[in-house]
Amino acid sequence: MDPITVLLDEVLEDIRPLRDGAPAAYIPELAAADPEHLALAVVGPRGRVRAVGDIGHEFTIQSISKPFVLALALADRGREAVLRKVGAEPSGEPFNAISLEPGTGRPANPMVNAGAIATSALIPGDGVDDRTSRIAEGLSAFAGRSLWVDEQVYESESATGDRNRALAHLLRSHGVLEGSVDVAVETYFRQCSLLVTARDLAVMSATLAFGGVNPVTEERVVSEVVARDVLSIMTSCGMYDFSGEWLLRVGLPAKSGVSGGLLAVAPSQFGVAAFSPRLDAHGNSVRGIALLETLAERFGMHTLEPH
Ligand code: GLU
Repeated sequence: MDPITVLLDEVLEDIRPLRDGAPAAYIPELAAADPEHLALAVVGPRGRVRAVGDIGHEFTIQSISKPFVLALALADRGREAVLRKVGAEPSGEPFNAISLEPGTGRPANPMVNAGAIATSALIPGDGVDDRTSRIAEGLSAFAGRSLWVDEQVYESESATGDRNRALAHLLRSHGVLEGSVDVAVETYFRQCSLLVTARDLAVMSATLAFGGVNPVTEERVVSEVVARDVLSIMTSCGMYDFSGEWLLRVGLPAKSGVSGGLLAVAPSQFGVAAFSPRLDAHGNSVRGIALLETLAERFGMHTLEPH
């Protein structure tokens, strides 16, 4: 093992005994996850991947799809068109909160569910399948391999997704969402059900770290400006209602999801991702946060620190 992999392995084993939290329970299929799974992956500038733990294990991307679908919407529509439908302010509220801007009905930002549904609806396409395949293609380019929907998780989320459906109806009543509520919501559920590994997330993260170019495939996926816009939103809103404290403690743009994934971006340096299904009260992976905190500390990764 090379020295960096050895170090990642050490950090992983240090935090392995942490058993706080519990897997998300509100989507039945997620509640069935094996809580012991643990993985960590880092991707550097030349596309070298270092991964430790359960690196082959696939899980659904959930909310971590949000920044990447935002990237696709920004690339397709431009920043101003996106901002007309969704704001760029941290909400300080849980991810599924029913809080829309008075007057306009715009969701606070694209990382809360209401904002993510509005953003996903900006991806052009004819119906759920067409839109989902555009999203899957876009996210696959970020990951450098083809990503597929986990049909069981999708069914489970769709069968229990009344709150997200209600949010979408509210968005439509304000004119933020145009077109069919069903198409918007089912597309969003399918985007959340794409299967990834910690390695995939680290490559996706690295693509944002290197200005929109995937360092593994060397493909330009989005422009530098789009990558920067996405990182800005991740910095202020990526960790649910823990985003402020996360910035203070770790200082990296990041995004977490309810299946236990967590990715963070060290601009121009590397992309990093962790996976562990037990979540804290904010919905963030307990061991994922511990891993990232430890790495940030050891490597002096805080973006606001003089480098
Ligand atoms: N699909 C999940 C939902 O909308 C994603 C939530 C998350 O990962 O935060 O409830």
